[in-house]
Amino acid sequence: MLYLLNFLKIIISQKKMKILKFFLLIVMLLTYTSTIAQDYSAPLNFRMLLSGTFGELRGNHFHAGIDIKTEGVEGQKVYSIADGYISRIKVSTWGYGKVLYITHPETGHTSVYAHLQSFSAKIDSIVKKKHYQKESFEINFYPNANTIQIKKGEVIALSGNSGGSGGAHLHFEIRDTKTEHPINPLQFGFNIADNIPPNLSKLKIYAFDTTLIDGYNKSKIINIKKTNNKYAIDENPKINGSFGLGISTYDKSNDSYNKNGVYSIKLCVDTNICYKFTVDELDFSTSRFINAHIDYAEKKESKNKYHRCYKLPNNKLTNYSSLINDGIINIQDTLTHLISLEVTDIYGNISELDFNIKSTNNPFLNRCPLPKDTINTPFAINKVNIFKDNELNLHMEANSLYEPIMFHYETTDSIEGVFGKVHHVHFDNTPVHKKYVLSIKAIVPDSIKRKTYIATTDIKGNFWYLGGIWKDSIIRTKTRQFGNFCIIADTTNPEVKGVNIYPGKKFNTQTSIKLTIKDINSGIKSYRGEIDGKWILMDYDYKRNLLRYDIDEKLTKGKHTFTLKVTDNVNNEKVYTADFTY
Ligand SMILES: [Zn+2]
Repeated sequence: MLYLLNFLKIIISQKKMKILKFFLLIVMLLTYTSTIAQDYSAPLNFRMLLSGTFGELRGNHFHAGIDIKTEGVEGQKVYSIADGYISRIKVSTWGYGKVLYITHPETGHTSVYAHLQSFSAKIDSIVKKKHYQKESFEINFYPNANTIQIKKGEVIALSGNSGGSGGAHLHFEIRDTKTEHPINPLQFGFNIADNIPPNLSKLKIYAFDTTLIDGYNKSKIINIKKTNNKYAIDENPKINGSFGLGISTYDKSNDSYNKNGVYSIKLCVDTNICYKFTVDELDFSTSRFINAHIDYAEKKESKNKYHRCYKLPNNKLTNYSSLINDGIINIQDTLTHLISLEVTDIYGNISELDFNIKSTNNPFLNRCPLPKDTINTPFAINKVNIFKDNELNLHMEANSLYEPIMFHYETTDSIEGVFGKVHHVHFDNTPVHKKYVLSIKAIVPDSIKRKTYIATTDIKGNFWYLGGIWKDSIIRTKTRQFGNFCIIADTTNPEVKGVNIYPGKKFNTQTSIKLTIKDINSGIKSYRGEIDGKWILMDYDYKRNLLRYDIDEKLTKGKHTFTLKVTDNVNNEKVYTADFTY
């Protein structure tokens, strides 16, 4: 009987086990299916090393994706991370260069693959048709869901260095399909080895109107030191009045020398959070507010990028949370307070800087005198700002600045090659969010007017084309920068040189026609290559000044005429012609 009982017990427990196992299986299945929706495969088939992270600080924008190294070379196979369809294709000389967008209806995401060298054959045949339809290298179109369907793991392209890319790599993004907001792709894994916490290099304490930092009404930079794996600063600042903090920091991942961006920055005063910045998601419509997030003047002057740990009045970024007084610290007592800054990467590696500050109560000692200048005009942030002088007018929309400024204007005498004076319009280390209208008056002979334009200059003889339209004696343009402006002329035609083509050339084994094009003053506006009077697709690589036509089935054997017309920004033209045999 006892034996039977024991036997039954075993059967029951086995049954229990089975039920337990069954439950476990269900739980596992549920978790699996909930993650499978975002179970993306890698866009490359070798170890992923990053040369850029999401939210990294770039020129006028936050980096909207990750930059994946391609073993130093172009031409690596690029794979779709999931099933979907090609929803956008763009080819441009600038920006993303050749780029594919794949919409994944099952997950609600769109993946983006940029700076490509070439598209897969099935995509390329459709792209090529578009180029020839539009007779343009620059194209941008949105195929519908049925046109180019893509399977997970399908080769869609070869990696490259096209557009505004400074070396072979794959720029990869994941966006929310509906909002088009880029999301941090590293949320989805992709198996990147990273156990290195962020590096903290410099701290900046910002003094406001009446703030004293160690006795001076002046912002202060302090080097952050690392000893025994702990970050610290040498001396504790004495502060009177409200102040802000800024930090210069970067993050590295394993086996990669690149200094990438960090994921979050948190500021606490006496353990109370008063500022947090996180890059989980971005919005292209607010990305330019990076110039309010960083210390723009420091970037211009010292090339150091500081994250401001406080929000400027007109900064509309939504990456901040837990803000108290916009992150601006105002200590009223004379006690010692603990400030702590915590910086993390997306893999949860943390670096922390703790220091004490002591508030003093002896204000206005050693206050720096304000610079005396009578032509300073106050510019507000929330209204239209207008400045008028004899030879220069400026009209700026409301909300073009992040904080109020004392607008400064002066002129200096003409320099070589310049019509009229050089206009110093405020300072180039002050960021401008929206384009403003800049009008300059000058006496320029009518015969040369149409070859002149407004340029920015560093006064060392370097000029950058801005453009401009004349009306009587006033030329007008729009710009998003302060700095030095002047009027110059470009009367030189663009330069065209055949690399492997010349009159009488015989093409036997070569598979492309190559030329270099250049314009030293106003820059190249357009080009048009033709064979026997018909437009041909020429790939323009501005970094190498190179134009290339890949010989295809359209070119028949025999004698042909190649023509290339290059136009610069003030319509100077160069036409190059060569008869050749193929
Ligand atoms: Zn990138």
